[in-house]
Amino acid sequence: MLDEAEFRCLGCGACCRIKDGIVRVGDGEIARIAAFLGMDENSFIERECEIAPDRKGLMLRSTEDGACVWLTTSNRCRINQVKPDQCRTFPFSWRNPDSGEVCPALARVCGSVAGEKG
Ligand code: SF4
Repeated sequence: MLDEAEFRCLGCGACCRIKDGIVRVGDGEIARIAAFLGMDENSFIERECEIAPDRKGLMLRSTEDGACVWLTTSNRCRINQVKPDQCRTFPFSWRNPDSGEVCPALARVCGSVAGEKG
């Protein structure tokens, strides 16, 4: 189990640039992000979301190189205050077996147990 007190995000943005990574968004997340941006939900969905590869919901758009479109060049999240739960809870509530290879802070704290369910 990952010790939250020990984990210190380095702000590198690597977890926001995973090629073929997807960030799913549900109704509540869409509503809060759209409100934050001053958009109506339908416009937000139309402009900023895509259908997930498994066609079971929506995900945020990403650039051709796999980066989240909301990531700035200085590795800041432009919707940080309202970002999706998936982003908010990584790597505490979930992570993949190879997350320690993506996230240097995770590797530093518990590289050997990356992939273990939190
Ligand atoms: S990859 Fe890890 S250290 Fe880098 S921004 Fe994401 S959580 Fe923080």
